[in-house]
Amino acid sequence: MTESYGKRLTIDLSAKEVTKGKIEEDVLKNFIGGKGFAAKVLYDELKPGTNPLSPDNVLVMVTGPLVGTSAPAFAKTAFATKSPLTGIFIDSYVGGSLGPGIRFAGYDLVTVRGKAEKPVCVYINDEEVKIEDATDLWGKDVVETEKALKDRFGRDVQIASIGPAGENLISHACVCHQIYRQAGRGGIGAVMGSKNLKAIVVKGTGKAKVADESSFREAVRAANENIRNNKVIQEGLSKYGTLTMIPMAQAMGIATVKNYSTGVMEEEVAERFSGPAIEARYKPERLSCYRCPIACEKLVRITGGKWGKFSAETEFETLMLLGPNIGITDYETIAYLGLLCDKMGMDTIQTGNAVSFVMECYEKGLMSQEDTGGSEVRFGNEQAALEMVTDIAYRKGLGKLLAQGTKAMADKIGRGSEKFAMQVKGLAFPAAWDIRGAQGHGFSFAVSDRGACHLSSDVDFIEFSGAPEVPDRFTLEGKPKIVKDTEDLATARETLISCIFNFLPPEIHLSLLNGALGSDISMDEFLLVGERTEQLIRAFNVREGNISKKDDILPGRVFEEPMPKGPGEGHKISREKFEEAVDAYYQLRGWSKDGVPTRKKLMDLGLEKAAQEIGV
Ligand code: SF4
Repeated sequence: MTESYGKRLTIDLSAKEVTKGKIEEDVLKNFIGGKGFAAKVLYDELKPGTNPLSPDNVLVMVTGPLVGTSAPAFAKTAFATKSPLTGIFIDSYVGGSLGPGIRFAGYDLVTVRGKAEKPVCVYINDEEVKIEDATDLWGKDVVETEKALKDRFGRDVQIASIGPAGENLISHACVCHQIYRQAGRGGIGAVMGSKNLKAIVVKGTGKAKVADESSFREAVRAANENIRNNKVIQEGLSKYGTLTMIPMAQAMGIATVKNYSTGVMEEEVAERFSGPAIEARYKPERLSCYRCPIACEKLVRITGGKWGKFSAETEFETLMLLGPNIGITDYETIAYLGLLCDKMGMDTIQTGNAVSFVMECYEKGLMSQEDTGGSEVRFGNEQAALEMVTDIAYRKGLGKLLAQGTKAMADKIGRGSEKFAMQVKGLAFPAAWDIRGAQGHGFSFAVSDRGACHLSSDVDFIEFSGAPEVPDRFTLEGKPKIVKDTEDLATARETLISCIFNFLPPEIHLSLLNGALGSDISMDEFLLVGERTEQLIRAFNVREGNISKKDDILPGRVFEEPMPKGPGEGHKISREKFEEAVDAYYQLRGWSKDGVPTRKKLMDLGLEKAAQEIGV
């Protein structure tokens, strides 16, 4: 492995100590980077049973061997920790230029533990690393924080910061970068808040080096050509961003509408929200992560209207979850709600999901106006949505309840509400997709390492492909194997921190990796890194959250309520087939009937310590 890869920076805020070191050769080989390093560090260095909001929790900020190089769409940074929302492993990825900045400063892995006595920011300026007072920033929103930090450290720094939601330990607070980008899921921002860490500021003046320049150049050429020839990218993502998925979701009847109940929007709404319609109306600015030729992000400038003048980035998840899923169909209102979340530093997925859950509880009579502080919390009530989103970050009014996340809310409200609390292991369902019409994808929500995650496998791409050998999207038949195999692949990709939207085939990922490290890792070894990482995370989740079969489940709605209309009309997931699929998946994974990794499987992957600790 290359000499220039594998540098580690360790920061202890309690001891005010900074240590630099090199990641061990066997860790590099067995876990590569990104999600792999995150899993290894958290497993080895987090004391079992640590409270996620205690100083002992470890915050991981990690890049990968391709980040900051000329490889296209490898600009992301992974954040990982023990989640205050779910109590288990969480990783979340942010684009922009933070990851390249960290590598240019000379580091590949940064870990933070302990707790500062008062608000601080960490300033990483190449070799120099300082813990500085940030009392003046506490209480500022994300826009104000970014501005103040740039005034202090210069325009050329990269910033990861938290807003009021992180400071107030909201369970879905995120880590924010460049205002519109977030490591959104699982409350990593609250872990920063619990450490009194307002921001990490990075200035790097070096380079992300590669070991074998000529083979790396050839792999980059192949990757760029692949992206240029990909129609989904060129005619969809590059032109319209992720809103390119709206017409597809509508046409397939898998749009998330009114707390995941109907699967279809009004035709007129779907049309108005489509990429071409937004393009024609607002002419959004194209934004790109570091050196990404796809540039899928679209910044819309609203020049006036009921919410005044503002700019916002409304990608698919935000648009659906703060829009049709809470019954709101006015684009500018949705954009404004999204901006409020961004400024407060809150995950739009979890926020929209929690709001839609409360709205359904209210409409079903499980909550009264007394519970909502006098508000008519019905689907489509813009004012009620605005109040809730504003209040969550400060735990005011109904915000106190919403700040806990959908699972805890359902536990509190009870009376059968857990059936439509759309979450797995505490993590909210995302907008992609109404899983009654994407059943393999739904199955991957149930077994994914971090809860209801739409990025953990590629099964949706495969079940939507129409390939004759793949059972259709309304069945679980054949899906456990596809989920298991593509989870391993997706996790292997996440060790490189590849953006999912580059759609590069595994062979190109591998040649980029081997070029960057000067290695000759085979495809089998690469996939094994994915599997090893997955198994270690499962062992972590067993150790930290007592995770087992009881947790690999889906909410009752998807089993009991057939889709009421649209192309998926009449379809629901069979509970019996789901149970069979879970058993089949456990067998493929080498887990016990209760979903715990077996000793043999862990030993085969070199995870002896995990086998001992979880007692198998
Ligand atoms: S495709 Fe989009 S999210 Fe991915 S790296 Fe490029 S600009 Fe960033």
